[in-house]
Amino acid sequence: MNPTSISGTAAMQATTLRGRHNIRIAETRARAGALLEQGAAFMHLEADALQATGSDPSSGDETRPALREEHVDVVVIGAGQNGLSVGYHLARKGVKFVILEGRERVGDIWRSRWDSLRLFTPARFDGLVGMPFPAARYSFPTKDEMADYLEAYARRFALPVRTGVNVDEVTRSGERYVVTSGQTRYIARHVVAAASSYQKPKIPDFAASFDPSIRQLHSVAYKNPEQLKAGGVLLVGASNSGAEIAMDVARTHQVWLSGRHPGHIPVAYNGYFAMRLVLPVVLRIVFHRLLTVDTPMGRRAKPEQLSHGLPLIRVKPQDLDAAGVRRVPRVAGARDGKPLLDGGQLLDVANIIWCTGFRAGLDWIKLPIFDDTGRVKQYRGAVEGEPGLYVCGLHFQHSTSSTMIHGAARDAGYVADKIGERMRAAAG
Ligand SMILES: Cc1cc2nc3c(=O)[nH]c(=O)nc-3n(C[C@H](O)[C@H](O)[C@H](O)COP(=O)(O)OP(=O)(O)OC[C@H]3O[C@@H](n4cnc5c(N)ncnc54)[C@H](O)[C@@H]3O)c2cc1C
Repeated sequence: MNPTSISGTAAMQATTLRGRHNIRIAETRARAGALLEQGAAFMHLEADALQATGSDPSSGDETRPALREEHVDVVVIGAGQNGLSVGYHLARKGVKFVILEGRERVGDIWRSRWDSLRLFTPARFDGLVGMPFPAARYSFPTKDEMADYLEAYARRFALPVRTGVNVDEVTRSGERYVVTSGQTRYIARHVVAAASSYQKPKIPDFAASFDPSIRQLHSVAYKNPEQLKAGGVLLVGASNSGAEIAMDVARTHQVWLSGRHPGHIPVAYNGYFAMRLVLPVVLRIVFHRLLTVDTPMGRRAKPEQLSHGLPLIRVKPQDLDAAGVRRVPRVAGARDGKPLLDGGQLLDVANIIWCTGFRAGLDWIKLPIFDDTGRVKQYRGAVEGEPGLYVCGLHFQHSTSSTMIHGAARDAGYVADKIGERMRAAAG
């Protein structure tokens, strides 16, 4: 069984070195130096160059790949909304940096999401710092429009993004960090891991005990109902992704939605009142200002949000009822190859979609930065005990809005300010 089949993995592996001769390396180094501050010129050109390296003739071993080393002030890992926002702020400070992106195109993480996905936040809240989202303020952009917006953003601000460069490892050497991607090492005093909370799908171990005839996939691999077998569909996880996918699948299949209801915004989402009053209050004030690690209310809300996710934003319980989605308790395990619910009921379904969330997936950072639960020890993105190392886009990194589009500007601005302060202090 391979329930996840995460798209994009192949793209991330595309940095695997090819070819036997290193005829372009000197040329590439020279070009990297010349282009370091020319931003967008990097976007495809550098990815090509990185793939074109081969053996190091000076080593006397024609088959051994060359090590390429590059020094920059800051390496940002990930060109999603957070990495690009950090880049925007760093560029304004005149800092030399690169953004390394594992996928082939900026925005590919959005392109890989399910076909019918529209943002649950209206365009008014989907723009990054310095560039509003180019759509009617109260419309809901499609996932591909979001992807294209991110790509346009990188281009507009000439951000030095290198696509197709997956980071394998971050280690430390003295006061500098070593960021390794294939045969290339980036040496920097500052690293920002902006690879977000949505990288590695979480699926419980008992998934392996279900009958092999049940088609299982994680929401990351879900595209549309055509992927599913005839018969019932159990969606595990009743937060935003679970509820949205339930509505999509209920058009063609009988759906059971399992898990605790995480609450919902109690007004008609598309109405004039909700769009102009309720949503701005929820997104800008509650999620951004009240529920932060610096307020007692936020500190109380944090554990609940980390374990159960956000309340339903667009879909309402009555929408699920009207679509014929049946609500059932959480899945406790497997019995006779079938899903066993809390309370002892067995469900006979042909498909299971795991909407059970993600792990941050930062295990390529080979430094002691994780607590007992695997979370990064950090305050507003500054990692404890690792001066110069930052994260961006973690769940409740600073506030509920830290994993939302409208929260990126502030968290990224804070991280860029801290980097600026360290650089000024180091320069005396
Ligand atoms: C289905 C879904 C719908 C959502 N809808 C909304 C919405 O409507 N509104 C809203 O405000 N928020 C929404 N979110 C939440 C959030 O805005 C998105 O998840 C967003 O993509 C997170 O942005 P990010 O920059 O933190 O990370 P990502 O968008 O995940 O970007 C991280 C980037 O890092 C790259 N990367 C990862 N590891 C490496 C590595 N080792 N080396 C190099 N590159 C790497 C990835 O390829 C990726 O491009 C949604 C989330 C999901 C899952």
